[in-house]
Amino acid sequence: MLPIESVRRVLDAALTNGGDLAELYLENNEQLSLGLDEGRLEQATQGNDIGGGVRVFYGDTAAYAYTDDLSEEALIGAAKAAAAAARSTNAPRIVVDLEKRIPASHSPIQRAYDGMSTGDKAAILRQMDAAARGYSPQIVSVQASYTQTSRRVWIYNSDGVWAEDDREILEFGTTVAARRGETSQSIRTGIGGQIGLEFLDHNDPVALAGDAAESAVLMLDARPAPAGEMPVVINNGWGGVLFHEACGHCMEADFITKGASAYAGLVGQRVGPNFLTAVDDGTIPGRRGSLRFDDEGTPTQKTVLIENGILREYMWDLTEARRAGRASTGNGRRQSFRDMPMPRMTNTYIGAGPHDPEEIIRSVKKGIYAKKLGGGQVEIGRGDYVFTITEGWLIEDGKLTAPVKGATLVGNGPETLRQIDMIGTDMALDPGRGMCGKGQWARVSVGQPTVRVPRLTVGGTE
Ligand SMILES: [Zn+2]
Repeated sequence: MLPIESVRRVLDAALTNGGDLAELYLENNEQLSLGLDEGRLEQATQGNDIGGGVRVFYGDTAAYAYTDDLSEEALIGAAKAAAAAARSTNAPRIVVDLEKRIPASHSPIQRAYDGMSTGDKAAILRQMDAAARGYSPQIVSVQASYTQTSRRVWIYNSDGVWAEDDREILEFGTTVAARRGETSQSIRTGIGGQIGLEFLDHNDPVALAGDAAESAVLMLDARPAPAGEMPVVINNGWGGVLFHEACGHCMEADFITKGASAYAGLVGQRVGPNFLTAVDDGTIPGRRGSLRFDDEGTPTQKTVLIENGILREYMWDLTEARRAGRASTGNGRRQSFRDMPMPRMTNTYIGAGPHDPEEIIRSVKKGIYAKKLGGGQVEIGRGDYVFTITEGWLIEDGKLTAPVKGATLVGNGPETLRQIDMIGTDMALDPGRGMCGKGQWARVSVGQPTVRVPRLTVGGTE
């Protein structure tokens, strides 16, 4: 995007006041999003967001300046601003020879997004609307959305990093509401991945809308949820969002360094049952959280966070890794060129365990099955959480007997993890809709097998 000689001059300018490390980040983010709301095409926004930022590290601190003008002159201006903000040592450093690192893509796109017209994409949304409404006259409201994002990034630093990455992400979402008399239920769901239009060869957004309608109508018959402490079984796949939010964030190095995490100082200690393993893996092909390089140019990796119940590792970005005198794990991510990177998850999941998922349900005399979790409120880092169950079932004598509504799960992530006593063999990743908020938005994947927590507080309405 920028001639490599210009990159060198920008990095040189960033180090004029000294500083230990200078980094240049450039980004071109193109997005098309279509929304169908109550049968009307609400938006067809096409945006292009281009810019760059320069970061200068000095010891434990870093200064950052960005611009949406990608001329060498403007970037040198940003470099000088960052250099002025970083503390001066009056000892200019030299930029090491930049070495291009572009490995083979692990998420190659087969069919580009422009291979289908915007009209045809909107037609899929109309089919989704028709499928949901066609399921039942009790469906009273349908929204459907399509988003394609092509994000190209270039990352250079004075230690010789030269990394380029293409991130192409497709997503379909829908929210379907059913009503009968005074009772209404709405289901929100989505699918997608880091993939081209070939996604549609094996995934059906229209069926997704039909399934959401089925769930919403089913939940009209839901009973009020029981309240109190009881066994809870959490479904595989998207159920992993509980682990991500309530435990995963506690393993991000910034919370560890600040001492704000329940997991600080616990590497090598038991934090879960011996059949529990948890992983953050940015290298899985096609997944929403996958990256060849993180937003600091560090190659992503598979990081085993918990192995056989023992805490092994946290997730590191460059800033925290430099503070700790160690290497980054490739978890430095940023929402855009306007933001400083911070430690973030990529694709985070609990690995398969030893138990038959059906046996897990059969083992519960009276409890709750959380088939679909909705949004959670989490005190990130500490891990206290309240999650809504959007599709829940009563388990009685080992069988799913009736849908329940209004159920929430209330607890503390690290405490819940310690209590897990059964983990299924059915590990699955979510269908591709995860968005993580931590001051900045980041696309992520979550996953887990069916898990059982023997005693968890259910906030019910009964
Ligand atoms: Zn999150």
